[in-house]
Amino acid sequence: MDEKAPILSLPSEPRSFGFFVEGAWLDAGDRKIMERESPAHEVPVTRIPLCTAADLDRAVTAARAAFEDRRWSGLSGAERAAVLSKAAAGIRARVDELAYWETLENGKPIAQSRGEVEGAAGIYDYAAGAARMLHGDTFNNLGDKMLGLVTREPIGVVGLITPWNFPFFILSERVPFVLAAGCTIVAKPSEFTSATSLIMADILADAGLPAGVYNVVPGLGAEVGQAMTEHADIDMVSFTGSSRVGRSAIQAASGNFKKLGLELGGKNPQIVFADADLDDAADGVAFGLAFNTGQCCVSGSRLVVEASIADDFTARLSEKLAKVRVGDPLDPATQVGAITTDAQNATILDYIAAGQAAGATLVTGGASIDRGKGRFIAPTLFAGVTRDMTIAREEIFGPVLSVFPFATPDEAIAIANDTNYGLAASIWTKDIDKAIQTSRRVQAGRVWVNCTITGGPELPIGGFKQSGWGRETGIYGVEEYTQIKSVHIELGKRDPWIA
Ligand code: NDP
Repeated sequence: MDEKAPILSLPSEPRSFGFFVEGAWLDAGDRKIMERESPAHEVPVTRIPLCTAADLDRAVTAARAAFEDRRWSGLSGAERAAVLSKAAAGIRARVDELAYWETLENGKPIAQSRGEVEGAAGIYDYAAGAARMLHGDTFNNLGDKMLGLVTREPIGVVGLITPWNFPFFILSERVPFVLAAGCTIVAKPSEFTSATSLIMADILADAGLPAGVYNVVPGLGAEVGQAMTEHADIDMVSFTGSSRVGRSAIQAASGNFKKLGLELGGKNPQIVFADADLDDAADGVAFGLAFNTGQCCVSGSRLVVEASIADDFTARLSEKLAKVRVGDPLDPATQVGAITTDAQNATILDYIAAGQAAGATLVTGGASIDRGKGRFIAPTLFAGVTRDMTIAREEIFGPVLSVFPFATPDEAIAIANDTNYGLAASIWTKDIDKAIQTSRRVQAGRVWVNCTITGGPELPIGGFKQSGWGRETGIYGVEEYTQIKSVHIELGKRDPWIA
């Protein structure tokens, strides 16, 4: 986006939404309304109905009917691809609108929102291709009398529970893949950021998606989310959020043994070797920390840096962090916007206080930025952190980085892997052997070498250890939403069992 473009104005009144079931918009009626305030401006921006467990039942019934009558799963991959391609075009036609409401509800900079929405359109394009590529396998080596087929079938009705940090992008890392596989969807966005998941209902309907295939029931996690993980007629839930709720989802899903996809937290290392391009590395580490105010599951929140350069690198990094433009997310020049929720703001400040109380040394940041209105926190760097401190072990989900010097590559790996999480890791070095050897030994579902928080839908995402189960995106991401059937076909006359 043009950084000199004018700052967008706030809406004159909040935009009201209904909810979307069986291809139709339903009014809020007498349901409670969540009036969402912009976290940067403290004015109401959207009014969202808080659906009930009964609304969820209605949506699941619609999704089940749409799945069973094969109005979507019975189409060819080519026909599904055509709808997904049209949806990509529909997203592109509404980039301004989607980015605007995303920024207003979430607090992220408008330029970033636009980038995410455009990126989401690309994911739909990719998934359209994947719909046509999805296939099974054959076994032609079972002798002349037998042919074996391995077919993939859509898993059925899929519940999507998405968080508030990347409301549209995370939705778009799932929906087109679920649809490519032939499944039907009931989505529950975070109560704080439902607008773009709801707007997507119109875009998909305009693209020709049959009624009942994509349903959205906004509501509280404790009510609608919980009911979704427990629901006996949902075949799979993809949950993205905290490890705490992920753990409770595992228990709730046991009722009907539904499959779970879980993308949970991270405590991701940025490993910087002395031979790295230190300017690139400092820029990348600053980005990995401050991007989206650190409210990313893949944020680089632990700096594991070779001791010989630790002081120099920390100084470079704090210089860069001081230049990050934190401010009004509606200003196209802003790089880092507001903290999305009050609760998250308090959580981050509590962790900063805990770091200081435990004796870590504050190098830069460490406080709120007062802009008159809204919740902003300066990118924060702690040195002198020991591996047992709370700030070293727990996911903060804010722009707070702890520095850990290492002496040898083995020690770097030991520090990097000293966490219950295993979502992502970044490695900065110009030595190809070190890069590959470290990427092999680090326990993480995503590894970046001389880059961070980047990539496209071709590569899968997901975590090792307590960062989750399963994979989203890539061809693996479509396969997650299928189940495998083995078919044995006997040719010719049967060898009799009974003579
Ligand atoms: P949650 O895990 O509570 O929220 C994520 C999603 O789960 C939301 O849609 C939420 O709905 C829903 N949810 C909440 N309770 C339940 C439940 N019992 N059953 C099913 N779904 C539920 O995260 P928080 O918003 O509380 O954030 C807390 C921490 O979680 C953060 O500090 C961060 O560490 C981590 N987090 C990680 C994310 C990631 O991308 N991996 C994303 C968000 C948070 P609702 O918001 O409507 O309550």
